[in-house]
Amino acid sequence: MKLISILGSTGSIGTQTLDIVREHPDKFRVVGLAAGSNITLLAQQIREFSPEIVAIRSADQLSDLKNAIAGVNPQPILLAEMDDICEVARYGDAQSVVTGIVGCAGLLPTISAIKAGKDIALANKETLIAGGPVVLPLIEEYGVKLLPADSEHSAIFQCLQGVPDKGLRRIILTASGGSFRDLPVEKLASVTVADALKHPNWSMGQKITIDSATLMNKGLEVIEAHYLFGMDYDNIDIVIHPQSIIHSLIELQDTSILAQLGWADMRLPLLYSLSYPDRIATNWEQLDLVKAGDLTFREPDHQKYPCMQLAYAAGRAGGCMPAVLNAANEQAVALFLEQKIGFLDIPIVIESVCDRFESQNNSQPNLEDIIEADKWARQAVLDKFSALV
Ligand code: NAD
Ligand code: MG
Repeated sequence: MKLISILGSTGSIGTQTLDIVREHPDKFRVVGLAAGSNITLLAQQIREFSPEIVAIRSADQLSDLKNAIAGVNPQPILLAEMDDICEVARYGDAQSVVTGIVGCAGLLPTISAIKAGKDIALANKETLIAGGPVVLPLIEEYGVKLLPADSEHSAIFQCLQGVPDKGLRRIILTASGGSFRDLPVEKLASVTVADALKHPNWSMGQKITIDSATLMNKGLEVIEAHYLFGMDYDNIDIVIHPQSIIHSLIELQDTSILAQLGWADMRLPLLYSLSYPDRIATNWEQLDLVKAGDLTFREPDHQKYPCMQLAYAAGRAGGCMPAVLNAANEQAVALFLEQKIGFLDIPIVIESVCDRFESQNNSQPNLEDIIEADKWARQAVLDKFSALV
């Protein structure tokens, strides 16, 4: 029996992790839950999974949550606010913490979990992208595992099992191409938020769905792959694969290529991030290659989607630059979702913020530097936005 806590339990990653727990009550038990919103769902989760501790982001919602679970016996410890999300992350005997919070808000809770000796099932890529220079040394220091739950990185990690040291030559990340993959570039200027939120293959939270439409998600995943697998940026490639059946590939020194395949279902990478190195039998639909049909590949279009190159540049600049890129992207996506900027403004805003930051970049940042850079970039986007209107 593995004890786990879930940060972001009411989101897409959180609810799919709970699906796994529901299917395997003999293998997993929930110790802690944390969420930003959706009291009704959180209350249902408390009734069903009986966690020992629960935190909600805002203190205003605490009394509603208390009312919603009146009568539940035994009552979990109930907390509110950011420090309390960290408290859930470090609480009790949980061995693994699933990080399903969206954005750099996951950084401090992830660090708390690592310092408490928990393994990390990493869905929250923004934390590693912004905090890589701080998170990776902590993983070493506390001797915990950082297990990827992002589908591409899980695919790479699965392919790497059994590959000897220095056997890896290249990583090939597959990308579905997002909501606008078949739309001509001239039409991108007028797309709406609703259009951008229609992902062809995956059902995910809003922020990552927009990142998929701009292909910033793939750019962020390049940085994530660099930190997770220690690969140089020159050896991380992107290929568009519209069917999302091959979740990524690795090339070995002798040119052999290994791939991991499956239906587009996040439960599989989530399960492996919790069961590693074991394989747990499931009754999920098996991949039928004939039903999957043609698997096709094409070059990513960097003219149409400048975010990928912005991410490579930020990754190569290193230091706080990935944190700046990530925060600028989070803020720009928030403005797009609020319909305050257009789809094509997203890369323009991010590029200008990264350019402004260049001279202040610090190659060996500590946690304070990263938090400072994150704050600075968010404000820089808002300044740029006020200049635009
Ligand atoms: P989501 O928006 O569906 O869910 C986010 C969850 O985090 C919700 O429970 C929300 O209440 C909570 N939350 C948000 N801000 C918070 C805060 N400040 N404090 C506490 N809780 C907070 O998002 P998602 O799609 O589940 O994505 C979560 C993370 O996983 C993201 O980093 C995303 O990039 C990554 N990821 C998601 C998928 C997917 O299929 N959804 C795939 C790969 C990676
Ligand atoms: Mg992914």
